[in-house]
Amino acid sequence: MDSEIIAVGSEMLTPERVDTNSLFLTAQLNDLGIEVTAKHVIGDDRERLATAVRRALANVRLIIISGGLGPTEDDVTRDAVAMAIDRRQNLHPEILSGIEQRFRAMNRVMPEINRRQAMVIEGAHVLANERGTAPGQWIEQDGRFIIILPGPPHELKHMFERQCMPRLSRIVPSLAIRTLILRISGMSESELDQTIAPIYKRYENPATTVLAHNGDMQVHLRARCPSAMEAEALLAEVGSQIDAALGDRIYSRNGDPLEVVIGHKLKQRHATLAVAESATGGGLADRISLVPGSSEYFLGGFVTYSRRLKTELLGVPEDLLREFGPVSRETAEAMAIGARRRAGATYSIAITGNAGPTTDGSESPAGAFYVAIASPRDTQVVHRVWPAPDRVRVRAFAAQMALDLLNRRLSQASF
Ligand code: ATP
Repeated sequence: MDSEIIAVGSEMLTPERVDTNSLFLTAQLNDLGIEVTAKHVIGDDRERLATAVRRALANVRLIIISGGLGPTEDDVTRDAVAMAIDRRQNLHPEILSGIEQRFRAMNRVMPEINRRQAMVIEGAHVLANERGTAPGQWIEQDGRFIIILPGPPHELKHMFERQCMPRLSRIVPSLAIRTLILRISGMSESELDQTIAPIYKRYENPATTVLAHNGDMQVHLRARCPSAMEAEALLAEVGSQIDAALGDRIYSRNGDPLEVVIGHKLKQRHATLAVAESATGGGLADRISLVPGSSEYFLGGFVTYSRRLKTELLGVPEDLLREFGPVSRETAEAMAIGARRRAGATYSIAITGNAGPTTDGSESPAGAFYVAIASPRDTQVVHRVWPAPDRVRVRAFAAQMALDLLNRRLSQASF
């Protein structure tokens, strides 16, 4: 079954508020095997909302509307839905007395405008609001369903989980949903898509989503089948083809991020790690140490932003810094060797670069980075320049690349 979500509220069209209800609803609907094919945000405007409801009714069998159920003139949801499906609204005496009671419990008299919250669209099933005043409504219209829910997230969630999910699960055929998450690095998003699109485009089920964030890429495959066995078999069929196409660019098949993957490998080898960071300013150490249990293998890091500290803390020779500059292959290598030796670690990672946005008078262009990995056997250095530098993104890319390099190094048989 396909669905659309409509978030109502002019505040959701300002820079201050985000429609988070639809994220919650999408996750819940997906669990039932219901796809969300469109989401809309509509201001407090009766006509516009009625038009959006009519359009959605022409497209999908399920429409969920959140918000706009308050008592004031700009709470238009009830009226707009009634208008869209050409039904009357009636005052519901029980809801009215419930609202009156809530006010009495607060030692207040219910203002007259709150009567509007007791108006129910003809033929609707009332969804009781145990967390607030505005009840929700469940309406059936020519084999289609419109669910109206209150806007405040804690009210909406409670109502949806308790009253809508059980009803929906009786309507939609029960489906087993299984997800496979592959995490990938070492290629661009377009390269990734170009490689795997010929495979996933052949299948409507599982649904494939490619997500990219600062050099970290994820491919989500979601299979929906009558049984768990069929869903798993389908994931295995498509997953194995993607696996073959991407090879060692896949670093995780269970959703774990790189810092967790390298953690497992370091523990297996009883090895330790230290980092030396210049341009990332501690961001790499932050990621590594965020993993629970990382103290077992992560010894610590040196944040050596200045030349002086690169020399004093890591032993990078002054001559070398003068000759090649702080953003250079030679400096990255010397930082990694120094960090490994001074921390007494098995492996070390060093990052030096220019995160931009300007060149800061240095020789290296903005976005240029060197990452070095020192091991008991050798030191490897990799150089990258990210175009259109944005400090936050470039630093995140550099940390991702550093973890990716270490992961590749740890995948080799020997130390
Ligand atoms: P009330 O009876 O409280 O007025 P309502 O159903 O009329 O409820 P709104 O007035 O539209 O709901 O929204 C109340 C508050 O709930 C908003 O100020 C906002 O903080 C939150 N809210 C509404 N819609 C959403 C949404 N889609 N995502 C996240 N928060 C929302």
